Amino acid sequence: MDTAELVIVGCGPSGATAAREAARSGLHAVVLEKDAVVGAKRVCAAGLRPRFCEEFDVPRAIVHFDTPRLALFDADGGEHVLTFGPGHTTTREELDGTLARLASSEGAEIRTQSLFRAVHRNERGFTVEFANLRNGKREAIATRAVFFAQGSTAVLEGTPLGYGEWRDGIMTTLQYRVYLERPALPITYQTLEMHYYVGNERRQVVGWMFPKKDHLAIGLGVIGKMQGAKLRSELDALTERIAKRLYPASRVHHVKTEGHLLYMGAPRPVMSHDGIAVGGTAAGLVDPTNGEGIYEAAMSGRLFAASLAEHRNDVARAARRYASAVRSRFVGRLRQRLKLMHYLERKPERFGVLFEQLATTPRLPEVLHGESHRRTLADRAFLYSQIARFLLKAS
Ligand SMILES: Cc1cc2nc3c(=O)[nH]c(=O)nc-3n(C[C@H](O)[C@H](O)[C@H](O)COP(=O)(O)OP(=O)(O)OC[C@H]3O[C@@H](n4cnc5c(N)ncnc54)[C@H](O)[C@@H]3O)c2cc1C
Repeated sequence: MDTAELVIVGCGPSGATAAREAARSGLHAVVLEKDAVVGAKRVCAAGLRPRFCEEFDVPRAIVHFDTPRLALFDADGGEHVLTFGPGHTTTREELDGTLARLASSEGAEIRTQSLFRAVHRNERGFTVEFANLRNGKREAIATRAVFFAQGSTAVLEGTPLGYGEWRDGIMTTLQYRVYLERPALPITYQTLEMHYYVGNERRQVVGWMFPKKDHLAIGLGVIGKMQGAKLRSELDALTERIAKRLYPASRVHHVKTEGHLLYMGAPRPVMSHDGIAVGGTAAGLVDPTNGEGIYEAAMSGRLFAASLAEHRNDVARAARRYASAVRSRFVGRLRQRLKLMHYLERKPERFGVLFEQLATTPRLPEVLHGESHRRTLADRAFLYSQIARFLLKAS
C-alpha cells in the first residue's frame, strides 16, 4: 500500500495551501482531488480580500482587477459605496491551478481523479480509501494524519467531526458568466457589488457582480433549496437591473450558467479528532454576511500545516493545536457574523441602516475587516460605540 505522512482530501485553497506549506516543511503530503483539472469546475465569484496574493505568496498575475470600491445595495435597491483595500478579482481556474502548481513545486503529490471514499483507524495511523477515477479501482494510502478540505459537500456524518446542523447552513447558488460584446462602464471594473434583498417566496437573497477580464460574474444565493426555474428567474431579474446600470449599450454575446452549494452556517463545533482535522469551507469557515471563504480556507490550511510541522511525532496533538488556533482566529467572528445576518434578515430595512453607517464612517469597515486578534483596545471601544449607534437606529 502507498504511504504518506499526511493525506489531504480536496485541492481547493485550503487543501492546496496545507499541502504546499506541509511539503515546504519536509512532510510527505498527498492530495486527493476528485476533478481531473484542479479548479476547472469550481463555481465562485472569486473575489479576494486585500493583500491576499502577498499574504499567501501567490503571483499577482492571477489578479484580473483591483477593486477599490465595494457597492452595497440594500433591500430597496439603494446603493452605499465604501472604499477599501483594494480587493481583487480572479477566477478559480487560475487561483486553484496556481496554488496546486506551487504545492507540487514544493514536493506535494497531487493526485487528480481521486475520489475520497472512507478513512479507517489502524494501530499505526489511518488508511484512506479512494476511487481512482482513471481506472475505476478502489485504492488506499496509509497515513499518519488526514486533513479534510473538500468544501461544502463535506457532510462528514458518521465521523467524530459530523455536525447535525450542517445541512441547515447550505445555500443554493446560481451564477452567470456574462460575456459582453463591448466593455461595461469603466466603474464596473473598479467595483465589487453585493446585493441584499427579499426575493421570490419572501426569501432573503444575497447577490453579487464581480468583474473579470473577459466577463462579469453575476450571481445570487438563497439559504436552503429553491426550485431551479425560480432561482433562474430571480437571477434574470438581478442581471437585468445590473445590465441597465452597468452595460446599457453593450450586447451580451454569451452567458454561461453555473450553480453550486455554499455552506453559510455556523462553524463546525468539532474540527479535529485524533490525527484527523477539517479546514476551509468543510469546517464551516465562511463569512455568512458575504460568502467570503477563500481567505479562511487558505489560512486554515496554513494553520494545519504549521501545527503538523511543529508536532510531527504527535499528530493528535497537532490536530488539537490546529483546532484551537482556528477557533481563536475565526470561530468567534464568524458566529457573530451569523447572528448579525439573522438580525438583519428579520427586518430587511436594517441592511440599509447598516450600509449607510458603513459608508459614512470609513473607520468602521476598516476595523471590521481587520482580524479580531489584531484589534487594539481603541478599536474595540470604537466598535462597541458603533454597535450601540447601529442598534439604536435599527431596532
Ligand atoms: C457561487 C459562490 C461564490 C463565491 N464567491 C466567493 C468570493 O468571491 N470570495 C470568497 O472568498 N469566497 C467565495 N465563495 C466561497 C469559496 O468558494 C469557498 O469558501 C472556498 O472555495 C473554500 O475553499 P476550500 O478549499 O475549503 O474548498 P473548495 O474550494 O470547495 O475545494 C474543495 C475541493 O475538494 C474537492 N473534493 C470534494 N469532494 C471530494 C472528494 N470526495 N474526494 C476528493 N476531492 C473532493 C473539490 O473538487 C474541490 O477541488 C463563493 C462560493 C460560491 C459557491
